[in-house]
Amino acid sequence: MSITKEQMRFWSPEVRELEPYVPGEQPKIQNLLKLNTNENPYPPSPKVVEAVQAVLVNSADALRLYPDPEASALKQAIAKQQNIAVENIFVGNGSDEVLAHIFKAFFIQELPVLYPDITYSFYPVYSQFFGLKTKILPLNDRFEIIADDYKQPNGGIIITNPNAPTSIDLGLSAIEEVLRANPNSVVVIDEAYVDFGAESAVQLVEKYDNLVVCQTTSKSRSLAGLRVGFAIAQPHLIAALEAVKNSFNSYPIDRFAIAAAVASFEDQAYFEAQNAKVIASREKLVGQLAEIGFDVLPSKANFIFATLPSKDAGELAAALREQGIIVRYFNKPRINQFLRITIGTDEQNQRLVDTLKNTILV
Ligand SMILES: *Cc1c(COP(=O)(O)O)cnc(C)c1O
Repeated sequence: MSITKEQMRFWSPEVRELEPYVPGEQPKIQNLLKLNTNENPYPPSPKVVEAVQAVLVNSADALRLYPDPEASALKQAIAKQQNIAVENIFVGNGSDEVLAHIFKAFFIQELPVLYPDITYSFYPVYSQFFGLKTKILPLNDRFEIIADDYKQPNGGIIITNPNAPTSIDLGLSAIEEVLRANPNSVVVIDEAYVDFGAESAVQLVEKYDNLVVCQTTSKSRSLAGLRVGFAIAQPHLIAALEAVKNSFNSYPIDRFAIAAAVASFEDQAYFEAQNAKVIASREKLVGQLAEIGFDVLPSKANFIFATLPSKDAGELAAALREQGIIVRYFNKPRINQFLRITIGTDEQNQRLVDTLKNTILV
């Protein structure tokens, strides 16, 4: 729908200027292979489904009453799984919401916030939304983050680790360098994909009073439909997030989401087995794609970032789509010859490889 200038007079002036995030599409095509939004190919633990059903069965008041505004049961389950205190935990409606609160709580400063040129595309959206200054630091020509670049005056730093859409991870020693070089600003590590093989900075939270680690249940816990994300930091930083949250929406996590996420954190064995499968499938797919000529960046995520020198990536994405396979293509400088491909099951990945080999690249 297109809105006229005249109709826009009702809008707040700053909203007229917004450039919102464009989520990966959720199309309804038959026999679709959806490798475009980094969802987990496996269902969540069966205990999660039982827990959701039990909410309605066990309490006649489940829908009538507000949920726990503190989501204490969820914080406890996360604390136990992460081996940290409950006072170090903040929860929100997906890590996108947690990140929004992080930007509001810490990043509206005199100096610019630093982040890479190629990273999660929600950061520029939030930067505009909250009217903050930014300084964009290019990744090197191997698409790596250079820790030394983050040793300059700033009003905050946000790094995705492993980075998206590049899939490359940054070691904890580099992250510690950044933390030490910035004792007066908050350093946020967005670990949406950390469970697929990178090292988590959660173990540094006790040591650094300027660190915030953000994680989500959407990818490694197969709960993208639930919308539960969380942040881990020292209590003086958690307090700022709680102040922002309680100035915006006091009940961001509903009763079903609390019960389901608790069950997921309690079933560590399922979580580990499932992620091991995704990692094994990733390594297999990387080998198969390399065999047909792709260059694949070294991935520690549940997706890969790959380029085929002999074919335009935009055309390749369109050709895959015609075969019912959707991958993510970013028509942006530096990365417009790459495809971001979510790791599916072995069967799904095989369909991708076979389609490329037998239909598209013949
Ligand atoms: C998917 C993703 C998120 C958002 O996750 P939700 O919890 O589903 O909102 C945040 N950061 C990065 C880098 C992501 O890829």
